[in-house]
Amino acid sequence: MTARSRKAAKEAAPDDIWCGQVVRPGECRTVDLRVSQTYSGAEIHIPVVVWRGHAPGPTVAVTGAVHGDEINGTGAIRRLIMKPPFKLLAGTLVLVPVVNIFGFERFTRYLPDRRDLNRCFPGSVRGSLASRLARTFFDAVIRRSDYAIDLHSAAVRRTNFPNIRANMTIEPQAAFARAFGAELIISSRGPAGSLRAASETIGCHTMILEAGEVWKVEPAVLAYAIRGIQNCLAHLNMIDNTPVAPAYRIETDATQWLRANRGGFLVFHVGPGDIVARGQAIATNTDLVGNTLNVIKAPREGVVVGLTTLPSVAPGDPICHLAYVRSGELPRVQRKVDRLGADALHERARDDLAKNVNVTAVEPTS
Ligand SMILES: [Zn+2]
Repeated sequence: MTARSRKAAKEAAPDDIWCGQVVRPGECRTVDLRVSQTYSGAEIHIPVVVWRGHAPGPTVAVTGAVHGDEINGTGAIRRLIMKPPFKLLAGTLVLVPVVNIFGFERFTRYLPDRRDLNRCFPGSVRGSLASRLARTFFDAVIRRSDYAIDLHSAAVRRTNFPNIRANMTIEPQAAFARAFGAELIISSRGPAGSLRAASETIGCHTMILEAGEVWKVEPAVLAYAIRGIQNCLAHLNMIDNTPVAPAYRIETDATQWLRANRGGFLVFHVGPGDIVARGQAIATNTDLVGNTLNVIKAPREGVVVGLTTLPSVAPGDPICHLAYVRSGELPRVQRKVDRLGADALHERARDDLAKNVNVTAVEPTS
């Protein structure tokens, strides 16, 4: 920091200081958060964009790549920084394209100490490499935020239809999660040490978006994330855009991973976001020359939240993540989906994500 910026920081109100730099109402600045050092002793910073409206209002953080290989969120945040589709009128928007800079640099979920950053929050100043990064970030950004949207994708070799995870038993958090305008909300507490679980303990209402795959910025996922973030900011009166409603709304706390019971090569019959009936074929497991071994069927009617993108499976490997809803709810949802045009974001997301898996009709069994 220069002598001049030190003087400016001293004279500014506490709300104006971000990572030791001054950001006044009406300004948008990139500040550097020092998070660690490399093995050769060089300083490691992450860029944090602080955008303040002229009027007072809540502080909202949007975070990407807490898992270093999940960069769909990084793409969405970069788009917001480079080409914002709104004017920020009130409050503060804090945009962090990459939180886990160590994992991001290595194209991996984890840190070099093999820890998962999203199990280390709120972290400790005397803890592990991951724990210290968690603590630095948590103190600098999350403790100052009223709300946070943490952008994730499915883990490696899987894909997710966009869905929001939040603790819907906490009312301000539930209202914030609904404001995002996702078709699917899965209610759960975050795992111990996750950013959203730690945020909840200090009253920062946090949801996560799970969408798409690792190592990609997928166009429909990017559009979905940006639409949702805009909807949330409109809900908080920080921008004056009109919120866009989802195609339908499902909130559930009932999900299940269907797993392979035998090794084989899968032929899929559904894609992410599809609505499936009880007993509907999800995938046919075949041997290497195509003979049917068994057919994996939906035990209940539900929505395909996630799917493996790797067709070869061993016993126990996850195949399909289903979200279950109240009996009788899905025909209503299906009717709404049937009325959507091909250009509706829901349908674009379904089409785009299904391109990553080879989905075929069910073959008649011999
Ligand atoms: Zn993740």
